[in-house]
Amino acid sequence: MFQLDEQTQMVATVIRQWCQSTLQPRIPALEAGTEMPFELMKKMAKTFGFDAMLGGAVKKRLEKLRAGAVDDPDKMMSEATKNPMMMHVVVKELSRVSPGFAMGFGVSMGLVGGAIVAKGTPEQIERWGLPIATVQQIGAWCLTEPDAGSDAFGSMRTTAVPDGSSYVLKGSKTFITNGPGADVFLVYAKVDRGEAPEARGMATFIVERGMPGVSVGPPFKKMGMRDSPTSEVFFDDVRLGVEHLLGGREKGRGGRTDTKDSLGNERSGVPSMAWGIIERCYDMSVAYVRERRQFGRAIGEFQAVQLKITDLFLKLRTVENIVYRLAWMQQHGKRDMPYINASKAMSAQLAVDAALTAIQIHGGYGYMEELGLEKLARDAKLLELGAGTTDINLLACARELIGVTE
Ligand SMILES: Cc1cc2nc3c(=O)[nH]c(=O)nc-3n(C[C@H](O)[C@H](O)[C@H](O)COP(=O)(O)OP(=O)(O)OC[C@H]3O[C@@H](n4cnc5c(N)ncnc54)[C@H](O)[C@@H]3O)c2cc1C
Repeated sequence: MFQLDEQTQMVATVIRQWCQSTLQPRIPALEAGTEMPFELMKKMAKTFGFDAMLGGAVKKRLEKLRAGAVDDPDKMMSEATKNPMMMHVVVKELSRVSPGFAMGFGVSMGLVGGAIVAKGTPEQIERWGLPIATVQQIGAWCLTEPDAGSDAFGSMRTTAVPDGSSYVLKGSKTFITNGPGADVFLVYAKVDRGEAPEARGMATFIVERGMPGVSVGPPFKKMGMRDSPTSEVFFDDVRLGVEHLLGGREKGRGGRTDTKDSLGNERSGVPSMAWGIIERCYDMSVAYVRERRQFGRAIGEFQAVQLKITDLFLKLRTVENIVYRLAWMQQHGKRDMPYINASKAMSAQLAVDAALTAIQIHGGYGYMEELGLEKLARDAKLLELGAGTTDINLLACARELIGVTE
């Protein structure tokens, strides 16, 4: 288990080559916002056959659903990639160069595509799930609102008011990854039938760009993840037929629990991003301390520097082991939420620490944009905020372990 099989290793090698030849040269334009990453995502999926691989699996699920045979979508996705480590390794390789590109890709294909394929009706899977899961279209996952972050469900103000056989969606979402270019928005809302806000049930809608009433704000200027465009998304009385209601049904007051599957998937993807960041920091640092000379010796001969290398090595192996365990859980259909929450928080912290340690090892050169380490440090910080802040992840873990709700 604690070793990549031959096929996964091969994928890692070709993705790394692609990152160096194709993604790396685009980073300045992507970071400056003069280029959007979406065409590159589509190109990558085609180059490596993700479209055919995942498309085949989605079509198989569709056939089974239409034949009335129940199917486990989690199992289906891991079967599609033959082993769940494959996608973790792809995310890791992308994150060595561009954690933002990896995030946008994962949000679209994994989070939005995955949710529609797992929870959608056959018609929704065919119309939206398939093109997003195969990266022909880009998806955005819309949960957070200006006044609803950690308390995403309790403070949610976006409403869907039933009107005859349709709904009228009103509200706004913020900090939405892929917002500026997404074709499809997966939107969480409270269904408003005139009851008190705390008594409202949840529903998830599939909303298309270009529908009347849908608009997006300009890309935010951010500390990091600058190669992943983020924006507000506005829904101004957007009229949606029931075919836009995910799964064809409202989630009711249990909608929060239902969304936990997506949150679990989102958090399970963070350690592989941390893995890529830490691995690059480790690789660059080991090479640098061998060649950089001060006081007549390679700096790797100084014990204070040696301790930092061991520190990076331990962080690398820790996060790598976390990812292997997550992949094992996925392969065996286990969803250990305390582990997912806590290991997401820990991986994020280790990535931030590793990037700062690598900068320290590189001295002034580490602070320069050219080396790419300052970018990794800026990007790593998002891992402690997105998909739930570190404190929220740790508290969620503790609550499940103890068995309390608050
Ligand atoms: C670059 C970026 C991309 C993002 N992409 C998406 C996306 O695609 N889709 C999406 O829906 N969202 C997205 N988010 C939103 C992200 O999930 C939220 O920022 C995150 O959940 C935190 O919410 P908040 O920013 O409102 O912080 P707040 O909830 O306001 O938290 C502020 C501080 O208070 C602390 N805090 C809050 N409540 C508690 C509590 N009960 N106990 C202890 N401490 C607490 C937090 O830990 C934090 O330190 C993105 C955010 C960023 C920055």
